[in-house]
Amino acid sequence: MRPNPVLLTVALTAALQAQSPFQPATPPPSPVPVLASYPDTPAGKLLREIKEHSGVVARVEYLADMIGPRLTGSEPLRRAQAWAMAEAKALGAVNVHEEAYDFGLAWTRGTDSARLLTQNGLRFRVDQLAWSPATKGPVQGELLLVDARNLEELQAFKGRLKGRILLRSNPDDKRPPLGRRGGGDMAAFQAEQTAMTQFLIDEGALATLSMSGRKNGLSFTTAGPGRDPKKPALPAAYVPQEPYRMLLRQVARQEPVRLELSLGGAFSAKPVQAHNVVAEIKGTDKANEVVIVGGHLDSWDLGTGATDNATGSAVCLEVLRALQATGLQPRRTLRIILWSGEEQGLLGSRAYVEAHKAELDAIQAVLVHDMGTGMVKGFELQGRENCRGLMAQAIAPLNDLGVRELPLRTMNGTDHAAYDRAGVPAFAAIQESVDYFEGTHHSQMDFPDHVRPDQLIQGAQAMAVTAWELLNMEGRLPHGIVARTPAPPAPAAAKP
Ligand SMILES: [Zn+2]
Repeated sequence: MRPNPVLLTVALTAALQAQSPFQPATPPPSPVPVLASYPDTPAGKLLREIKEHSGVVARVEYLADMIGPRLTGSEPLRRAQAWAMAEAKALGAVNVHEEAYDFGLAWTRGTDSARLLTQNGLRFRVDQLAWSPATKGPVQGELLLVDARNLEELQAFKGRLKGRILLRSNPDDKRPPLGRRGGGDMAAFQAEQTAMTQFLIDEGALATLSMSGRKNGLSFTTAGPGRDPKKPALPAAYVPQEPYRMLLRQVARQEPVRLELSLGGAFSAKPVQAHNVVAEIKGTDKANEVVIVGGHLDSWDLGTGATDNATGSAVCLEVLRALQATGLQPRRTLRIILWSGEEQGLLGSRAYVEAHKAELDAIQAVLVHDMGTGMVKGFELQGRENCRGLMAQAIAPLNDLGVRELPLRTMNGTDHAAYDRAGVPAFAAIQESVDYFEGTHHSQMDFPDHVRPDQLIQGAQAMAVTAWELLNMEGRLPHGIVARTPAPPAPAAAKP
């Protein structure tokens, strides 16, 4: 019997695709529906105004190109905040101000480099984990794969770590996964992580390298443990997949692989304050009640933070612009908030909730835009079934624009979560993913080139009209803390 050559080719192709870490490019986003006409209603006026005169893409470009990356605690973020306040005032907002909170040490990226001293001598991209300590100038060390997942596994490396640069990711790990981190106990998990880092320091390791979870040369960054100066920390960096896998293959040959590594980030001398920007359009007969529309103005610093989250920040300003241009007066007060510290753990929104505990009852709802450029398809209800009726009413004028989804699902990865946990109806927009989690999110590719104007303009329309309906409806969204079983730790990619 001869194998069928066609079937064999199909099977081979499938097997090769299954082995390749490089998935095909993401499918194109759903097209934005085109409205045949605009109703003669406030919602219709807002839709038309934003479609015909949107300033949202221009503001993303300004933030990204002229101000650039906006790490919390940095001078560029302070410039972005000054700019946003000036824009809000020019767009007719009142009560424009900043609210400060204690942030901790600021951190500035330096020059990062890596060069093999053996094998092929390649120089390749490394990006220091933000808030990790710098190397003491260029350091040279032999690479060692240390794919220990807990303290017990790590202790097996005792005596072999001195002067080594550690490869801490093993994408080819075939071991069955460990149980939930710390048995689901976050404090236990963090204590073990701290003990592991202390062990590496005590054993004399020089630095750690991890593989970027992104494909096709994309790097990644997030916050290292050094945000807390009391915790031990080692110099740490991400390496894109291709060079990282090369290092693994070189190490697998059982010959010494020596690397020169330089990571140049620096901490501020003293703790700094961080700030949230607030701007309002006052309501009329229900002015004491508030609808908050927000996004975070801070960003990571490998790209220019165009889709994370200049897009959401620009959408907030566009909501102000559309109200001013149409002359519409809301019954409740519209409050725009541009948070900071989102990327270090929703610090700005948490600080706001803490500082305004006594006023949370006056908030009708919080709406957040933080998933990049993609069009808005609805809002996560966070388990608030009792909000479904009024939320459905709020998005009804947007149904033909593709805004229809109100799943009960809970999303915790952005600033609405701080309000949600305090009992306030607070919802993140569900957005078309475009190439957010596969591409721009926290990577060096986060530039305005990846902004899709039609998708983002629809997002601004969706946020403006949903806010408008919530500002003006007779009913109030019910408050209350939603009882939830603790969520399993989110995969890294699920956090905007
Ligand atoms: Zn974000």
